Amino acid sequence: MFRATILTLFPELFPGPLGTSVLGRGLGEGLWGLDTVNIRDFSDNKYGSVDETPAGGGAGMVMRADILAAAIDSVPRNDRPIICLSPRGRPLKQARALELSKGPGLIALCGRFEGIDERVFATREIEEVSIGDFVLAGGEIAAMALVEACVRLIPAVLGSASSLGEESFEGSLLEYPQYTRPREFEGRAIPDVLLSGDHKKIAEWRRKQAEDITRARRPDLWDEVQKRGPIRSDKNKDETS
Ligand code: SAH
Repeated sequence: MFRATILTLFPELFPGPLGTSVLGRGLGEGLWGLDTVNIRDFSDNKYGSVDETPAGGGAGMVMRADILAAAIDSVPRNDRPIICLSPRGRPLKQARALELSKGPGLIALCGRFEGIDERVFATREIEEVSIGDFVLAGGEIAAMALVEACVRLIPAVLGSASSLGEESFEGSLLEYPQYTRPREFEGRAIPDVLLSGDHKKIAEWRRKQAEDITRARRPDLWDEVQKRGPIRSDKNKDETS
């Protein structure tokens, strides 16, 4: 079973949004697991502090390597990767989320302040992951994004896995436009083809839309598709075979 263990200074933030809707139901039913470790519990002083001023000077505070290492070492690994949420990490991609969703889970390390003493990364096997080229105040929201991206790919959690196959990024294409009732909204009708009942035409139209949108909005993704052709997830293959 997928289990996320979150190392944080703010365990009260969890499960937060992960406790809602389909993911929350799955959590309640024991289809995936979540627990937190309060890094402050590993402080060595009566103030519970975990940070110190940066060596060499400069603004802000740095999380201490010894305290973080003790917190990390207290968590049973169970073959799970340790992932530190960090703006300097490898950008999170759907492919990594899919891979993680099939495994035993992850241990997420949430930074705060200016960051983390580099020696934690030198002495522990830690993967650094960024959720985008912007800077958050802490790793908690990034950890939630990572865990949510993984858990919603667990078939038992989502229930009907069919809606996963055609999403944005599954084949490195962005998703085609969606419509539902009413048939007309502020003078705009649903495209005729979608009401035609012709499934082949509909699939072609959606594909073309997805390609146009990807080319216009994300030339980087479009180049990727051109280079190696669209990928299909394993889950998708299982379903169609
Ligand atoms: N001084 C650091 C930023 C620290 S932000 C720098 O310039 O790189 C504090 C914490 O927020 C980080 O330790 C990290 O855990 C988290 N964080 C901030 N932005 C993030 C992002 N884009 N992706 C993942 N985690 C992020």
